[in-house]
Amino acid sequence: MGDRGDSSERPDRVPVRTCAGCRRRRPKGELLRVALGGEGTVILDVPARAPGRGAYVCRDTALECLRAARRRRGLSRTLRVGENVIDHEGLADSAGALISQASPGGAPSGIGPQEEPPSRPR
Ligand SMILES: [Zn+2]
Repeated sequence: MGDRGDSSERPDRVPVRTCAGCRRRRPKGELLRVALGGEGTVILDVPARAPGRGAYVCRDTALECLRAARRRRGLSRTLRVGENVIDHEGLADSAGALISQASPGGAPSGIGPQEEPPSRPR
């Protein structure tokens, strides 16, 4: 029974947040943050660095959870804003783009990195 190796596992080191859609509790890394942007807008806070109040939805099922959050007004309640302030379509768009971007195997569509000429002499 003395099964304590020197593994330094700390289960509650990872901050856990509740999804505003399905109400599941998950580690922050599995969630997308929705935050109040400037001028009272609600944005998808991808780097999760925006100051102030934030709400969370599951990253892998973001579209479903955003829809659920909309139905139960989870975002507006958590962020303490009017439901009309929240651009649900815009959030779903950003989340959808993010998810398709993150999925492996998908060919990156878009403009590749452009080569910039080194500092030109004047
Ligand atoms: Zn969820």
